[in-house]
Amino acid sequence: MGILGCMPPIQRREITGPARVRFAPSPTGNLHVGGARTALFNWLVARHTGGVFVLRLEDTDRERSTPESEAQILRALEWLGLDWDEGPFRQSARSVVYLEAIGRLKAAGVVYAAWETDAEMEAQRDAARANKLAPVVRGRRDWTDEQIGGFVAEGRRPAWRFGVEVTGRTVIDDYVRGEVSFEHTAIEDFVVARSDGTPTYNLAAAVDDLDMQISHVIRGEDHLSNTPKQVMVIRALGGAAPAYAHIPLILGPDKKRLSKRHGAASVEDLRDAGFVPAAVLNVFALLGWSFDDKTTMFTVDELIEKFGVARISKSPAIFDLKKLEVLNGRYLRLMGDDEFSVALVGHLDRVGFFADKDAGARARVLETVPAVKRKLTTLGDYEALAGWLFRPLEIEPEAWDVLAADVRRSIQAIGGGLGRLELLEEFTLDAIKDVLQDQLHILGEDARGFLEPQRIALTGQRVSTGIYESLLLAGREESLARYRHTLGRLADIWVA
Ligand code: GLU
Repeated sequence: MGILGCMPPIQRREITGPARVRFAPSPTGNLHVGGARTALFNWLVARHTGGVFVLRLEDTDRERSTPESEAQILRALEWLGLDWDEGPFRQSARSVVYLEAIGRLKAAGVVYAAWETDAEMEAQRDAARANKLAPVVRGRRDWTDEQIGGFVAEGRRPAWRFGVEVTGRTVIDDYVRGEVSFEHTAIEDFVVARSDGTPTYNLAAAVDDLDMQISHVIRGEDHLSNTPKQVMVIRALGGAAPAYAHIPLILGPDKKRLSKRHGAASVEDLRDAGFVPAAVLNVFALLGWSFDDKTTMFTVDELIEKFGVARISKSPAIFDLKKLEVLNGRYLRLMGDDEFSVALVGHLDRVGFFADKDAGARARVLETVPAVKRKLTTLGDYEALAGWLFRPLEIEPEAWDVLAADVRRSIQAIGGGLGRLELLEEFTLDAIKDVLQDQLHILGEDARGFLEPQRIALTGQRVSTGIYESLLLAGREESLARYRHTLGRLADIWVA
């Protein structure tokens, strides 16, 4: 046994008791996989512990925050079913709270006016780098009244920096990463208020976590380095820091940082592509968390029951769109016909499927449900699979190539099928199946060689709903007309 095998398993803690957690997106873009996973983990902890899920919009960056992004984030959360108990709180509406906190920090003497310009601070960083030191800046605190008077006369306004106690260190006991220690020598005197008076992210997030009595901060690992700063602010304000759980990065299957390239679209893009919330939540939950090594399917209720931070991994998670597709297909098949119909029609409405169709189209879609449910990976595949039923026959070029490759054989198959279908007294699924199977035997064809031309004659496509069901869905007259049309076209090239 290797050394690892001898080591006792890591006993990680679990969050117990009602947790007050928050999701704090910046409304500067769409809700993507990473943000949605953070929201989900927080929501699951709130629901699992009977706690509270707070939604806070960190919109202090007025230039990059947009109302569209905010609306989009809320819509995406609602679509996923991640309902919040408090909020949405907007940081832009809480300036007074931050000003008051900055006032208290000033009064406590833990922040100081930094008169240096950005360029001067950057020069300090460059000098540190040149000496192979951490680029950690600290403002001068020994300006004379005269110098300050000069700055004021020039129109300079100070930023306010937190004076980090350089001798110490801040230790956090992270639920995922264990004890993480931050030496203060490596932490610069961070800005809490910009020279225009606006609070920075580190100030606002810390003040809000304290003010909103957040018990556990669960967020992406990229925020780990902000944590000691936020802890310092909270302590300086006389509060106790929340507990932290920093969740791992998400990579694509190629182990590169997740991006659009990996199909990691926004949540709304996934919705529009025809994924269902249950599958999306299932896959997001597994981005860094696992219950055991084998279970891959969890309903939302099972996730609420089983989720816990103790089983969140430190290593990066992999987002694989293929897995989502497979799982989505499974979720679709598990749905009852009614539930599936609601999801399908909702999707088709959203993507404008009915816009150019007559009033009967909705009823027709419902008729197709049993035929498509088994075959769909995403609801977005509906058009490709069943769209043929809603438009006149149009033979796709690659489907035509299949027929044209052996015109004689195609005419024989389609003509043979047509002859049998024309004679059917009752156009039922069983009857259709019986005669076509019989004809298949008579012609002594292989099943594909016979059935593929039937499919193309009827749908114009190589991939569609099952052939027998398709004939039934199109109905006798429409089916026969399509067969005749295809035969006519084949006859044209046969003669030529
Ligand atoms: N607004 C930050 C972000 O969107 C979240 C910070 C946090 O969770 O503390 O990355």
